[in-house]
Parts: sequence; structure tokens; C-alpha cells
Amino acid sequence: MTDDMQQLPETCEQCGSANLRKDIVRSAFWHNDRLVVVEDIPALVCENCHEQFYDDATVVLIDLMRGDGFPPEAAQSELSVPVFSLQQRAKGMSQP
Ligand SMILES: [Zn+2]
Repeated sequence: MTDDMQQLPETCEQCGSANLRKDIVRSAFWHNDRLVVVEDIPALVCENCHEQFYDDATVVLIDLMRGDGFPPEAAQSELSVPVFSLQQRAKGMSQP
């Protein structure tokens, strides 16, 4: 019973599509007020809505990384990302 640990959906739990493919993805996680990116994640990706599904072993690993606190010295690279304000955009729309 050890080779049946992967409990991946056959259809997308988000949109119901059966068009799922295995892929290696990266995903962003909020950890307290830091945004961190994890790469090399094996996932099942919905071709229709791009929802990503992880198997149990992957979820456990991500939880372990979260438990480690994503220490900066363990990061393999750094990204800088632009930050936008929805409120600022809304103000722009109210201009004449
Ligand atoms: Zn989907």
C-alpha cells in the first residue's frame, strides 16, 4: 500500500475539467508579511483554469519549508517584484 500514496484528482476541483497534466511549477506563498517563491514543485495543472494540485508528499514538504520559516540564507535566488495598489488605481478612475 505504499505505491498508492498520491491522491491527485482526476478532474479539476476548481472547474471540473478533466484536462489535467503533470508539470513542475513554481508558486508564491505568503509567510507572515514576506512573499516567498518555491520552485521545482511537482504538480497537476488544469489546462483550463490553471489551478495547481499537489500530492500529499508535496504538501507535507511545503509545510516543512513553512515550518523552517523560509530562512533567507536557504534561498537559492532572490526576486524583486513590483507592488501595486488597487486603491491607487481606483483613484485614477475617478479623475475627470
Ligand atoms: Zn480547472
